[in-house]
Amino acid sequence: MLQEFFENIADFKILMKTHQVVVSGSLVLQLLLPRDRISWPVTDMDIYVPCGTGQHIANYLNIKGYSNITETLPPHTRYQFSQSHIHNVMTFTRLQRTIDVIVSISSNPLLPIFCFHSTTVMNYFNADIFFSAYPSLTTNFKALINPFRFESSKPTSVFKRCLDKYVACGFLFAFNPNAWDVASNKTVHECQEDYNCPHRMRTSVDNGCFRFNFGDSNGLHSDDMADDIGPPVTWMLGGHMCNSENMSHSFLSTLS
Ligand SMILES: [Zn+2]
Repeated sequence: MLQEFFENIADFKILMKTHQVVVSGSLVLQLLLPRDRISWPVTDMDIYVPCGTGQHIANYLNIKGYSNITETLPPHTRYQFSQSHIHNVMTFTRLQRTIDVIVSISSNPLLPIFCFHSTTVMNYFNADIFFSAYPSLTTNFKALINPFRFESSKPTSVFKRCLDKYVACGFLFAFNPNAWDVASNKTVHECQEDYNCPHRMRTSVDNGCFRFNFGDSNGLHSDDMADDIGPPVTWMLGGHMCNSENMSHSFLSTLS
């Protein structure tokens, strides 16, 4: 997958290790799903980097032949960006390939990933691990919508377009698992206990996550792996309670 973007993969792995770079977005989702269900081409890659490293990453991409075409921080999206834990986005292209560099507002490059539109894309890999926050939902083509995007406004047409490509390959979207459980006569999930309940407080090292170590660091425990990219992330999607109209607020932070 990476060789679609770089001739020297080892070189990019060193960059990922030394600058806490992670790859996320729809490119990474392809690692979880059957190849014949993917309807989008491998031409775009999103990389997430800590605050303060954007210029170094830009220099690296320039050396590799990528041109910086845009840097996005228009005034009308500034508020939304900070809510998304994103400082700015730089877009680079080379031939038919595009790389978006998403710079976090903090030293943790992972926080923006948990602000994504849905659980479909709450996955990433770095030089050592592959991580998925909602593996059982995702591999069953189900996804929770992140209510964070709906608290202040209704879903926009841009948001709907974001989901379109996932709907096209068979994903079902809902605000909580009851929508699928009731429809399929399955036992309704245990609210606030089930890892797939949006009102359960989650951490990036809990048993609801999938974490596969493919790096060459032998004998690492999960805590050590988490330290590789900063402290574990804690989050709760929140939104309307699964069985009532009461609201539960979203939460996102890092443990320290
Ligand atoms: Zn629930």
